[in-house]
Amino acid sequence: MTKGQKIGVIVPIFNEEDNLPELKRRLSSVLDSTGLDYEVILVDDGSKDGSLALMREFNKKDPRWKALSLSRNFGHGAACTSGLDHIDADAVIFVDADLQDPPELILEFLKKWREGHAVVFGARTGRSEGWLRRAVTRVFYRILSGVSATPLPLDAGIFSLLDRTAADSLRKLPERHRYLTGLRAWLGYPQVSVPYERQSRHASSPKQSLAKLVSLAFDAIFGFSSAPLRLATLVGLVMAAGAFLFSLNVFYDKFFTDKPIIGWSSTMVLISWTGGMILFTVGIIGEYVGRIYDEIKQRPIYLVKEKVGL
Ligand code: UDP
Ligand code: MG
Repeated sequence: MTKGQKIGVIVPIFNEEDNLPELKRRLSSVLDSTGLDYEVILVDDGSKDGSLALMREFNKKDPRWKALSLSRNFGHGAACTSGLDHIDADAVIFVDADLQDPPELILEFLKKWREGHAVVFGARTGRSEGWLRRAVTRVFYRILSGVSATPLPLDAGIFSLLDRTAADSLRKLPERHRYLTGLRAWLGYPQVSVPYERQSRHASSPKQSLAKLVSLAFDAIFGFSSAPLRLATLVGLVMAAGAFLFSLNVFYDKFFTDKPIIGWSSTMVLISWTGGMILFTVGIIGEYVGRIYDEIKQRPIYLVKEKVGL
C-alpha cells in the first residue's frame, strides 16, 4: 500500500436511520486513521425512513461520503452491486450499516491487502444472535459447502475487502441472483479470512426478513450446485427400483400363493408417496427453470433514482 491509494467503502442501507450516525462516527474514525484517501458510498435500497435525508446531510458535511438511492428495494445483493458499479478505488470494502461487523476490523483487512491478498473477508467465529438463527445458519453453511461446486468459505458474509482486480472481476459477473459471498469465492485470486466475533445490531431490528434470507439460501444452493438435480434423479431411481420390486412381489403373490392382493391402503400410500416425490423433483427443476428465466430477461439488477455527490 502506497500513498495516493484510495479506499472505497460500500454500505447497503434499508431503513437504518438509527444506525447511520454511529456508523458514520466509527467508520470515519477508522478511515481517517489510515491516512489514505477514501470515499464511502451509502446505498439507499429503497428506505422508507429518514436514511436518505441523513445521507444528504453527511455529504454536505463531508463530500467523501456519497450516496446512491435506488428506485425501490432491490435487496442486499443488488444494493452492494450498485455501489460496486459506482466506486473507483484501489481497495473496495463492503460493510453492513448495523455495526454487526466492527469497522475497526477494516484495519486488519488493509494489513492483509498490503501483504498481497486480493480478497480479504471476515469469518465469523461467534455471533451475538439468537440460538435458532445461529443453528440454522450453521447447518445451512455446512450443507452448502458440501454440495457447492465452488469451495465456499464457512460462516462468511459480505464483510470483506477486494483489491481493484478482484472488484473489477466481480463487477463482470452478470447474474441477477446475486449470492455475493459465493460469487466472491468463485473469483479465486489469493484469498484470506480474518476471524472475528459478530456483534449484535447497534440499533433497530434486522432488515433482512426471513423470506429474504430463505431466498438468499436458495440462490446459494441453486446458484452454486447442481446437486439438487442429481438428488431428483436419485429419488426417481430409488422409487422406480422400489416399484419394480414391489410389482415382482405382487405378481408372485397373485400367481404362486393363495394370499389376497393387498388393497386400498397400500395403493393410497404408494400414490401419495409417488405424487409427493414427483412434485418435489418437479419443484427442484422449477427452481432452475425460474432462474434461467430470470437471467434471460436481462433486466438490470437495480435502478438508480438519485445520486448524491457522485
Ligand atoms: N439491507 C439492504 N436491503 C435489504 C435488506 C437489508 O440494503 O433489502 C441492508 C441493511 O440495511 C443492512 C445490511 O443490508 O445494512 C444487512 O441487513 P441485516 O442486518 O438485516 O442482515 P443480517 O445482518 O441479519 O444478515
Ligand atoms: Mg445485520
